[in-house]
Amino acid sequence: MMKKSKAVSCLKIAEPLLFEKSRKGRSGFVVPEDPFRDAGEGIPAEHLRSELTGLPEVTEPEAVRHYVRLSQFNFGVDTGLYPLGSCTMKYNPKINEYTASLPGFARIHPYLPDEAVQGAIGLMWELERYLAEISGMAGITLQPAAGAHGEFTGIRMIRAALEKKGQKRHKVLIPDTAHGTNPASCSLNGYSVVEVKSSDRGVLSAEQVAQVMDDDTAALMVTNPNTLGLFEEEIGKIAQVVHARGGYMYGDGANLNALMGVTRPGDMGFDVIQFNLHKTFSTPHGGGGPGSGPVGVCSELLPFLPIPRPVKTDQGFRLVTDLPDTIGRVRAFFGNFLIMVRAYTYIRELGGEGLNQATRMAVLNANYVRTLLKGLYDIPFDRICMHECVATDAQFKKQKVSNVDVAKGLIDRGFHPPTVSFPICVHGALMIEPTETETKEELERFVEALKEIREIAMNDPDRLHHAPHNTYISRLDEARAARDLILTADMAKED
Ligand SMILES: *Cc1c(COP(=O)(O)O)cnc(C)c1O
Repeated sequence: MMKKSKAVSCLKIAEPLLFEKSRKGRSGFVVPEDPFRDAGEGIPAEHLRSELTGLPEVTEPEAVRHYVRLSQFNFGVDTGLYPLGSCTMKYNPKINEYTASLPGFARIHPYLPDEAVQGAIGLMWELERYLAEISGMAGITLQPAAGAHGEFTGIRMIRAALEKKGQKRHKVLIPDTAHGTNPASCSLNGYSVVEVKSSDRGVLSAEQVAQVMDDDTAALMVTNPNTLGLFEEEIGKIAQVVHARGGYMYGDGANLNALMGVTRPGDMGFDVIQFNLHKTFSTPHGGGGPGSGPVGVCSELLPFLPIPRPVKTDQGFRLVTDLPDTIGRVRAFFGNFLIMVRAYTYIRELGGEGLNQATRMAVLNANYVRTLLKGLYDIPFDRICMHECVATDAQFKKQKVSNVDVAKGLIDRGFHPPTVSFPICVHGALMIEPTETETKEELERFVEALKEIREIAMNDPDRLHHAPHNTYISRLDEARAARDLILTADMAKED
């Protein structure tokens, strides 16, 4: 059926710090005699340096090679399959980068008057409308800088709406499958969190929610499909239970890649939902770069949206701030604007039909992987999944091979590992999200690698305990590596 995956050889050479390569007097370019002649104007003399010290002095090729090598030590969606569950590491089309680099978007200043940036405000206004249509919500804010920030903003609006009604509720319900940011966002808004156990089918039951839902509960915060990749089958009934007690339905929309263009959170009864543009809408993420977590709300919550809001008037687009019930600003200026340009490009590029097809392919790919893994790995919820599936390391108990060992084995075979040990309600989880942008052949190569790893786990487990073998740096003591950073070139001995 498929070719054996070959072990890849990574660039196994030491790369010192730029500072260690530095030699006095070396330089890549010539600077003018006194480049800072005018730069210090208005700054008191005691705060001005007389010379620059401590900067690395290297030639241009040394600088270029240094950064190119570092980039080659890295793994990204442009390098290979990146099936990191819950993260939706789909390919980022390069046309997004082209539009985001157009000077009319990239070079504008946030203090320019509205008349000078009609295109930019118009793009935000239009993107809000697209996201509203995709999610079935009445209004959108684009400001939050990431999914977690969107959660915070959404829960903040729920709190504001309850306070406006004179209600002071204290709790938010969150299922045991939830992402760690969910309880954090509630806590930061002053709510305590009540965990709801999911059923042995891996989903919430309306009955269970009804048992804990009361008049002191502000909201139920739930991801659909949940982090097991399973669709919350009772979501309609659950929304009724929550609404009947005056609570709100918060939807964590990080998994929108399983719904987009097919069904809408607004139609399921959600009152608030956040988008992760850097997941579903193909803008780059990972490594802490800028993300974007817009929030959609139902019509009742519209007055609470953050300011400024883009509006369309007869005189063109305007940014308005005089909204009496707004929760205020949640971000400097307008949020991460160029991420919005990328998401806008993606939506326009695909159109409604394309978004629908992306969703269908994402779900098909996850189910293909799940089906191929049957009999090879333990799959705790072995039925039709959405855009991701969860396997575990349960069958390697005797060999003492863990999900982390499997992950390291994948690195040796040129694949980024799936998410490990999440969701926390599944012991030894390997959570696989292939995304729609992978081909059938690539998925087969991935499963073939997992099959090889299974053989090794059964017959030579110790080899896996020391993986990865093909990288410049081998297995680290992860806890110590995080607490006791050594960043010089001789940080690790080759094994
Ligand atoms: C990624 C993710 C988040 C948080 O989003 P960030 O953009 O990383 O802040 C929240 N919930 C779920 C289910 C996620 O997968």
